[in-house]
Amino acid sequence: MDVRPNDDDVVSLRTAKAELPLYVTRIKVYPRAIKGLWRRVKWAAVMLLLGLYYVVPWLRWDRGPNAPNQAILIDLDGRRGWFFDVVIWPQEIYFVTGFLILAAFGLFLATSLFGRVWCGFACPQTVWTDLFMLVERLIEGDRNERMRLDRTPMSADKAMRKGLKHAAWLVIAAATGGAWVFYYVDAPSTLVKIFRGEASLETYFFIGLFTATTYILAGWAREQVCTYMCPWPRFQAAMLDEQSVIVTYQKWRGEPRGKHKAGASWDSRGDCVDCSLCVAVCPTGIDIRDGQQIECIGCGLCIDACTQTMGKVGRAPDLIRWDTLANQQAKDKGADRIAWRPLRPRTLLYAALLAIVAAVILAAFFLRSDTELTVQRDRSPNFVRLSNGDIRNSYAVKILNKRRDDQRFQLAVEDLPGATVGSVGAGIEGSGAGTGLTVHPDAVGTFRIFLTVPAGAAPSGSKPIEFTIRDATGRQRASHGAVFVGPTH
Ligand code: SF4
Ligand code: SF4
Repeated sequence: MDVRPNDDDVVSLRTAKAELPLYVTRIKVYPRAIKGLWRRVKWAAVMLLLGLYYVVPWLRWDRGPNAPNQAILIDLDGRRGWFFDVVIWPQEIYFVTGFLILAAFGLFLATSLFGRVWCGFACPQTVWTDLFMLVERLIEGDRNERMRLDRTPMSADKAMRKGLKHAAWLVIAAATGGAWVFYYVDAPSTLVKIFRGEASLETYFFIGLFTATTYILAGWAREQVCTYMCPWPRFQAAMLDEQSVIVTYQKWRGEPRGKHKAGASWDSRGDCVDCSLCVAVCPTGIDIRDGQQIECIGCGLCIDACTQTMGKVGRAPDLIRWDTLANQQAKDKGADRIAWRPLRPRTLLYAALLAIVAAVILAAFFLRSDTELTVQRDRSPNFVRLSNGDIRNSYAVKILNKRRDDQRFQLAVEDLPGATVGSVGAGIEGSGAGTGLTVHPDAVGTFRIFLTVPAGAAPSGSKPIEFTIRDATGRQRASHGAVFVGPTH
């Protein structure tokens, strides 16, 4: 399908642009309440997503002593993420990157199949705006009442309603900001500290920040976030094609539109009775009958509205429906229905990328080691010649023990005949004696290691070597490459 504008479109677009000022004052949208299938789906999504968001920080998970009992915790002080029994260390940040890539490809796939389904049903902006609109409706009434209230001069009743609405919005916004913080700290104890004024300044700052953003974005900015601030509507055009299922007005069936009197003939006219209910319920205030528009978030509420109207006037439902542009264009021309093709090159590509990234993440997860070893050689001096002529290099060795019990490791070096390994002192979080290095649970043990080679066996210049650590059973748990430097012959 060629979706490029024709010459007439370009001319009219240029004319329109020439006439449009750079700044247009927002026309406030007063969405009307509507009942129907897609409204119910949206409420289900709102309840599920808000429920998850507010409840998850309160889930407890017993990990034994010396570990937090919060099921999901991004522990910035402890520098790790706790997800039930899975612990993600800073060294494993690639898992987070992998999940973000996975989410991006999932979004691309969903968009190429079902248009802006994310925007209409799952985006936080949509979910919180739905909640704020519900509160507004309960306090100020439905569309017509709210419009009337806004037109009337200030009175005690108006001040009371407006004040109550904003107070309720602020409570929800504060709960949202608080819940966000609870993902980073222990929720129950932090809640008590917040109310006692004993929480940290950072805690109050982030609660304030997220309270303000929730209140402004969901209470005041609303559809303007989707239309002007969010880049996603611009990107998504690249993922859509004529086979994507989107909300469409069936022009071929609805036009010519016009008011209809009960009992009057339906001949020579379309099914649209121009009731404007589809416009009144739209959260972005657009008319879907004007065709695809960047403001449309694909929420489906205009489908519910028109289904209601069609029922009242006794016409078949689905004048506005989920459909593909390909099918609508065929119907427009009186041609046969074009079946939906979910399996298309772009959807197959997104699905394949999704599967590959998921497989890589799973493989990396199941192959991840519970021990990590890093070795850093001291460069100043490069080596030390002992009184008996032996050559010594020193190294800073770090062993990460991700397990929940003390681990004792035997450190060895390969590819350096005659070398002896020794350590001195205690590590920051572990202790060492000889090559038996003990690292405490969930900790990094840091050790100073000396590698000594008899004078005759010392390499000339730099020689690659490998450090290995084995557990008490003799199983190799990790290795790390380094070099040993001797005097140049
Ligand atoms: S046009 Fe319909 S689907 Fe699009 S945002 Fe408005 S109500 Fe939702
Ligand atoms: S709700 Fe249906 S009948 Fe009413 S104006 Fe919209 S498209 Fe026409």
